[in-house]
Amino acid sequence: MKKALMWRDLPLTRQTVRPIMPFMNEQPDIKEAVATPPALIDPFGRAITYLRVSVTDRCDFRCLYCMPENQTFLPKKDILTLEELDRVCSAFVEKGVRKIRLTGGEPLVRRGIMWLVERLSRHFETGRLGELTLTTNGSQLSRYAADLAAHGVRRINVSLDTLNADRFARITRRGDLGKVMEGLKAARKAGLFVKINTVAVRGFNDTEIPELVAWAHGEGFDITLIETMPLGQIGGDRAEQYLPLTEVRENLEHRFTLLPDDHSTGGPSRYVRVKETGRRIGFITPLSAHFCDTCNRVRLTATGTLFMCLGQDDAVDLRTPLRLSRNDTLLHKAIEEAIARKPKGHEFVIEEGNTQGVLLRNMNVTGG
Ligand code: SAM
Ligand code: SF4
Repeated sequence: MKKALMWRDLPLTRQTVRPIMPFMNEQPDIKEAVATPPALIDPFGRAITYLRVSVTDRCDFRCLYCMPENQTFLPKKDILTLEELDRVCSAFVEKGVRKIRLTGGEPLVRRGIMWLVERLSRHFETGRLGELTLTTNGSQLSRYAADLAAHGVRRINVSLDTLNADRFARITRRGDLGKVMEGLKAARKAGLFVKINTVAVRGFNDTEIPELVAWAHGEGFDITLIETMPLGQIGGDRAEQYLPLTEVRENLEHRFTLLPDDHSTGGPSRYVRVKETGRRIGFITPLSAHFCDTCNRVRLTATGTLFMCLGQDDAVDLRTPLRLSRNDTLLHKAIEEAIARKPKGHEFVIEEGNTQGVLLRNMNVTGG
């Protein structure tokens, strides 16, 4: 009997989809994909052109604000296979999605992840996909940076909350700062543009943030600061961790001159330019300022559940239509129904004593 073809059987060639760019000081402008009109418009007239995919809920770290120490992960049978992830991402591309971000959990701990990256890169050739990117904790980056670049990935986000090795081990509960630094070096060598993501945590990195900004800018990286969001249980009080970015910004103003900057990626970040370094700082403030009006994204979990809003519970199961038929008609229909239900926005609050999080699912499930 003929054996079914698995992803592991398929050749993983290192094919250069786009020329690797030399290390750049400025974030590259990712070309708009071919002018196909966006097919997915939500009830508030927003075109949905950006899909974030959590390829696994697993992670080699246990960041204090993201998940508890004893996190249990999903059984393998519930997780979409790499072929299924390719099918669902490709269905979104067919429907007008122009940007895909792979995230998690830690996307680079998913076995065979480069097969998916290579498969998705075929959409660059048709011109339908403008950007394929990922958010990573950087622990595996030294191994994968060159392959990512070879398959057309041009910029990545690397999460880093401190430059102090002990503090890093404490906040990640098991991470090795040295490995992340090696990963960053490899990313630079491969010509990837890096943006650092830093979560502001009270009593942890509040006084270090100006230092982190100076370091990132010195390395040629932009940096985005993020407020903690109340997502899932973490085994502690979120109110204690919450540090409003208004406070962080005041602190930064003691050291830098922050100039207004109208740069936009269509995402939740609001930017300033630092006069002394010439580079940008992004601020993501889901709690102290909402960013929903221009939301262009939806999020797929590793089990195939589509969340139309990071901060709401309503979701649509795409795994069932995916597994019911080899043909994508049911899948396309489910995607259209999901977009028709995208809510206007979210209402996050963090209150003292609230250890549960407003939503039950942790960030590693929905994908940050
Ligand atoms: N493991 C990868 C990483 O850390 O970059 C990708 C997944 S992680 C969930 C994506 C981003 O979400 C990271 O920058 C992380 O710092 C951020 N994050 C996780 N939990 C968060 C929370 N409760 N509030 C705000 N940001 C959070
Ligand atoms: Fe893992 Fe990223 Fe969550 Fe940290 S933030 S535990 S690295 S998924």
